[in-house]
Amino acid sequence: MQVPKYFYVIVGGGLAGLQLARQLSRDIFFKGKQIAVIDPDFKAPSKTWSFWEKNTGKWDKLVSKRWKIGRFITSGINKKLELEPYQYKMIKAEDLYRETLAELEASPDIHLIRDEISEIDPVTREASGKINNYTATHFFDSRVNPEYMEEGKHTLIYQHFKGWEIETTEPVFSPEEFTMMDYRLKYKNATAFTYILPVSETKALVEYTFFTPFLTEERVYDEMLKRYLNEFLKVKDYKIVSTESGIIPMTDFPFEAENTSKITKIGTGGGWVKASTGYSFKNTEKKVDTIIENIKTGDFPGENLINKKFKRYDGIFLDVLANNNEKGESIFTKFYTKNNPEEIFSYLDEETSFSEDLKIMMSLYSFDFIKSFFRKAF
Ligand SMILES: Cc1cc2nc3c(=O)[nH]c(=O)nc-3n(C[C@H](O)[C@H](O)[C@H](O)COP(=O)(O)OP(=O)(O)OC[C@H]3O[C@@H](n4cnc5c(N)ncnc54)[C@H](O)[C@@H]3O)c2cc1C
Repeated sequence: MQVPKYFYVIVGGGLAGLQLARQLSRDIFFKGKQIAVIDPDFKAPSKTWSFWEKNTGKWDKLVSKRWKIGRFITSGINKKLELEPYQYKMIKAEDLYRETLAELEASPDIHLIRDEISEIDPVTREASGKINNYTATHFFDSRVNPEYMEEGKHTLIYQHFKGWEIETTEPVFSPEEFTMMDYRLKYKNATAFTYILPVSETKALVEYTFFTPFLTEERVYDEMLKRYLNEFLKVKDYKIVSTESGIIPMTDFPFEAENTSKITKIGTGGGWVKASTGYSFKNTEKKVDTIIENIKTGDFPGENLINKKFKRYDGIFLDVLANNNEKGESIFTKFYTKNNPEEIFSYLDEETSFSEDLKIMMSLYSFDFIKSFFRKAF
């Protein structure tokens, strides 16, 4: 069988692959260049993406709910987070997939191919699939290198969670306020909290989330969700409309070290998930823009995608959480009460100066951070 030739091959039609293909297909610079996006099924997962951004954004048409106020809650604190100039926005995966795939299907330069890639040979520039092989001048690869799970120099904890989208008969939620973290319902000594995205007074996504070195059984999430609804929201009469669950690696593993002149790792597989938060939606948008800029200026596409300074900060933060998991609540309490949301979001967006970073670090200061600093440095 003849090996089809493309200018670019994007392995994986998930968040990163679809965003990259969409931006390439919209840019006149790439007009006429044939681009294959390869995925086993292009099926939208049952998930929502939330992110913060200032004012309007590229995905506003698909935003199903936005908030200007958040809450940070512990047994002693109920802190109102006034987000302006930011907004916290939510997009359903099914909406993003539907719109983006329809746009890509209509593009003469994009080829959506159902296949699964096992290997990319950088010498022959050939990707091996189950159905066919594909050659390209450059590959963008969203497969995740499983080595990040191996014990070693790198720190790894998991953000793992299960959410219920519920509908209640009585009004329960304040649709104008989402809950970033509620630490009142505790799971042993772990960093674990409840996250709530209310879309109306009677409908919300309620998630129980862990940031821990361990994973847990399915029934644990269900028990915690049931308890939260009964004990804290005092709601008895509700129905579960849909569920969402996931495991997101929070790690300083150098995924980006695999980038070469022929292959750029993208998405989770490229280290685009912010190690200290597990967020990657907004990062994906920014890194896709950087890739396109790199190509236009003649650099390798994968150049300068990861900010080393913030990667180091995240590594220290993860080390503290990995070694003192029982202290997550107090660390996040300092983070959310000693800094305002604008400082927090710009720091997490990696847009702060060194003096602004110092202010955040001083707000978290403890001996644990000093220990982790030295552990990560040597
Ligand atoms: C349930 C859940 C909720 C999340 N919510 C948020 C959120 O609210 N905000 C946020 O910022 N981040 C969130 N994240 C983190 C992150 O944004 C997502 O995981 C995001 O989907 C990562 O994008 P990706 O393209 O790397 O991976 P994916 O979106 O998972 O896409 C990878 C694609 O590659 C394909 N693929 C895999 N192997 C192969 C192969 N061998 N050949 C061809 N194709 C292959 C898969 O089929 C898949 O379509 C969430 C993650 C999860 C799991």
